[in-house]
Amino acid sequence: MAYHIETGLIKEKFKTDCECPLCEIQKIVEDGLMHEFLNDAVMEDDSRILVAQKGFCAKHFDLMLKRPNKLSLALQVNTRTNAILKGLTFEPSIKKAKKLADAIDTAHKSCVICDFAEESMEKYYKTVAELFLCEPTFRDTLKNTKGFCLHHYAELLRYAGFSGKYAKEYLAALYKTQTENLKRLQGELKWFCDKHDYRNADKPLGSSETALQRTRTKLYGKKPE
Ligand SMILES: [Zn+2]
Ligand SMILES: [Zn+2]
Repeated sequence: MAYHIETGLIKEKFKTDCECPLCEIQKIVEDGLMHEFLNDAVMEDDSRILVAQKGFCAKHFDLMLKRPNKLSLALQVNTRTNAILKGLTFEPSIKKAKKLADAIDTAHKSCVICDFAEESMEKYYKTVAELFLCEPTFRDTLKNTKGFCLHHYAELLRYAGFSGKYAKEYLAALYKTQTENLKRLQGELKWFCDKHDYRNADKPLGSSETALQRTRTKLYGKKPE
């Protein structure tokens, strides 16, 4: 395996009953990064420089705000606002003001956590493909998942080349799992709708009760919490 990441986590999450095992992994990756940036990284110069340059996106700011380390967050955000203040130069020319506007618009979206998470997740996408190539039992594990959210499905397709000589089989397995599970979810949504017909009032709602919440995960990824 070319990428030394925890294959155990992949195998565990791919056996979890969920709409996207990669969202489960990404949550663990992001939680770890947020923990790091609110603890040891607060005092590290390299990390403070990165925080000054990129800061945090709104999603990760909100998630860290929910955590108890308010002092750490305040220190990090103070570092970032210092950098932002330096960038807010006075521009008397319209042309330069427009250029500055673009820079400001990028500034509030950049995020050190997102960037590190993306770097880690790339390794997971590659390793999933490699596991499919190297471990026959993992092929069944993948085929038995409930598919992926659209973003993670796209990423698996993007890195499918890492399944080497099994690429065709890997792509076929991904396609089959994804489409079958979208149809399964569609069926659950349909029953959710049909259940509102008075003739179905006595019938059980079953798994359709959570169909909308799970569709959220399927279409947009797991809701941040
Ligand atoms: Zn996902
Ligand atoms: Zn972020």
